[in-house]
Amino acid sequence: MTDCIFCKIAHHEIPAQVVYENDDVIAFEDLNPQTPVHTLLIPKRHYDNLSDDIDEALLGKLFAAVPTVARLKGIEQSGYRIIANTGAHGRQTVYHLHIHILGGTSLPISMGPAD
Ligand code: AMP
Ligand code: ZN
Repeated sequence: MTDCIFCKIAHHEIPAQVVYENDDVIAFEDLNPQTPVHTLLIPKRHYDNLSDDIDEALLGKLFAAVPTVARLKGIEQSGYRIIANTGAHGRQTVYHLHIHILGGTSLPISMGPAD
């Protein structure tokens, strides 16, 4: 995907504050953090979102990286939340599969519909 901003980050074509990287995934700081810790974790290969027929082994590698990133960010013990906004109702804005890793404070309970 030539015009995908997260593909460009994955290929180090535009700058990002990289937290963790291996052959398959990369984690970097969200540009507009919503919580004290707000890191994005993505597969390097482009998928639009979770509905994009993703290779199961890659999904496993992506989820396996979540606690690794949490440990590197110092929130593994205190806890955190992961979110994967998917499609229009999920309010996805960047269509390259990503997991938000949110923490560093006690998060609100509410996950209800938008106003
Ligand atoms: P979503 O609404 O789930 O699609 O989230 C997209 C996220 O990507 C938002 O939280 C943005 O702040 C973040 N974002 C967009 N562009 C960049 C960028 N170049 N580097 C880091 N984070 C970004
Ligand atoms: Zn992409």
